[in-house]
Amino acid sequence: MEAAATQARRFEGPTHGPLWEMVSAASSCLTCNTCSSRCAVAGVHGFDPRKVVRLANLGREQEIIDSQWIWNCTVCGRCEVACPLGVDINKLVRSARGLRPRDKVPGVLHKGVAMCLERGNNLGIPKDEFIWLMGDLSEEMRNEGFGGFEVPIDKTGARLLLTVNSKEPSAEPDDMKFWWKIFHAAGESWTIPSENWEGVNWGLFTGDDEAMHTVVGRLVENYKKLEAKTLVLPE
Ligand code: SF4
Ligand code: SF4
Repeated sequence: MEAAATQARRFEGPTHGPLWEMVSAASSCLTCNTCSSRCAVAGVHGFDPRKVVRLANLGREQEIIDSQWIWNCTVCGRCEVACPLGVDINKLVRSARGLRPRDKVPGVLHKGVAMCLERGNNLGIPKDEFIWLMGDLSEEMRNEGFGGFEVPIDKTGARLLLTVNSKEPSAEPDDMKFWWKIFHAAGESWTIPSENWEGVNWGLFTGDDEAMHTVVGRLVENYKKLEAKTLVLPE
């Protein structure tokens, strides 16, 4: 009897959890290593996309969720484009990130998501400060020889609706001017919304679907309200 029970245990398959439910295509993996050979960060902190797929197949989901590796992945998609069986490695990595408790999301990422939901951008820059900065930079542009330049804020009917990476107004404002100079020289019709202008969606990076949808929804709202033709995400 005991031998039979041991035998049964030996052939028992792995127990899969919620990650497996989301990315069942992992079961077709051949362990061919093509994904890892295409991955620019394979080897960093022991990360290897094939290993992540393998762990998923073995039912060792918690190890994936708790690992540092999944945060090394840039979600560039090179691995899954190369995979002969179309295993959705991006989805696997992103779903694993989403299953990590939010207070265990590394670095400032989750704080940025929470700030964006509360104040409309990842760094919580208030609307009046943002508008003041746009005016100040406009003046700099005019002093640099771009006569009559003014950042068009909340302009209805512009062709381009430009989003902003909050790190630019907070730390690298001159970076925005490169875009503006091109627009000015091209006579482009563009605008920046005064609120909810954040172009970096950390809900996307952290696997937080609800936050991601909210942030995208706000951009779409601005797009419709200002009757723009094209949404520009420089990030
Ligand atoms: S390329 Fe696809 S099949 Fe090959 S090891 Fe990676 S996930 Fe598995
Ligand atoms: S998506 Fe992630 S695992 Fe795949 S190649 Fe890019 S960095 Fe590597």
